[in-house]
Formats: sequence, C-alpha cells, structure tokens
Amino acid sequence: MRPAVFLDRDGTLIEDVGYLPRLDQIAVFPWTIDAIRALNRAGLVVVVITNQSGVARGLFTEAFVEETHRQLSARLAAGKARIDAYYYCPHHPEGTVEAYRRPCECRKPASGMVDGAVRDLGLDPARSFVVGDKWLDMSLARTVGARGILVRTGTGAAEEARLRPGLTADAIVDNLAAAASWILGKSEV
Ligand SMILES: [Mg+2]
Ligand SMILES: [Zn+2]
Repeated sequence: MRPAVFLDRDGTLIEDVGYLPRLDQIAVFPWTIDAIRALNRAGLVVVVITNQSGVARGLFTEAFVEETHRQLSARLAAGKARIDAYYYCPHHPEGTVEAYRRPCECRKPASGMVDGAVRDLGLDPARSFVVGDKWLDMSLARTVGARGILVRTGTGAAEEARLRPGLTADAIVDNLAAAASWILGKSEV
C-alpha cells in the first residue's frame, strides 16, 4: 500500500474564485507545478479531492468539472508534474438539480472520496497527507487517519483565525510549496 497526498483543489492548487464558471478563470498558483512535481518524484501518489457542489446548484455540469481537470493536468504536464487521480463530489443536500440533491458519503468532510481512492489505487491512509485551505479538510484528515496540513491560501488565512474546538492541523503553512516541503521532511518513502 502506497502513501498519498490528497489535495484540495480550490484555494489550494488554484485560486478560489467561488464557483469557477469559465475555464479561462483557472488560475494555477505559481508554485503549484513545482510542488506537485516534487511530490511525484518522492514517490507519493497525488490525488485531488474536491467538493463541487456547483453541479448540484446548477451552476455547471460534471462535464465542465472533468474538462477543468483535463486542462489543469495539461498545464501541469507542461511542467512535468502529474496528478494521478481526481475525485469530486457533485452533490449537495440543498441543491437545485434533482439528480444531485442529496446527502452523500463523498462530500467533505465525509471520507467517501478518500475511501474510494484508497480502494482504487491501493493507498495507505496512515502514511498519507491531506492538504487543504479549510478546517473541513483537516477534519477529513482526522477521519481517515492521515496527517493534515492547512494552507493559508484561498480561505486558509481566515480559517486559521477562526479556530475550531477539537480540530487541529499537523501543520499550518503559507502555501502548497511549504506543504510539500513539510511532507517531504516527514515522509518515509
Ligand atoms: Mg478549498
Ligand atoms: Zn457527494
């Protein structure tokens, strides 16, 4: 079983622009490609885990989410960086699109997407990491027994200022580059 890094998408890999409505609004942070390439080279499986409730809210389609991920991967490939798999949750309990309006096991902080990746890719959550800009990402890390790193990009700085009782991060760092350095210092691969 291999160790992985589970990466939040919006606010962690790319700018959080609310509900990304157009592909030309994908703004990859300047350090994202180098950080992911470093994780690739260390032998860590890199998996994106993202809530995309805009699908349930009728703001965009699953096809749009998938096209976004293809474009993101193409940008990364130009810098020899690779995301091994993407998992997204299109649901929301109060969505406006019938087919996606339901409670689910995949919407973070629930662990359905990580559980799926662990099964599909043969991962070891106890040797893995979750990186995100929200406390719900840290909650997910706790649930699956991985280490959680909160980044200050996206909503992270605001989240840091709003501590949640009973919830901690293993590290709070400026951005994904710093998170990758922290992970490479801890990881035994
Ligand atoms: Mg986020
Ligand atoms: Zn879901």
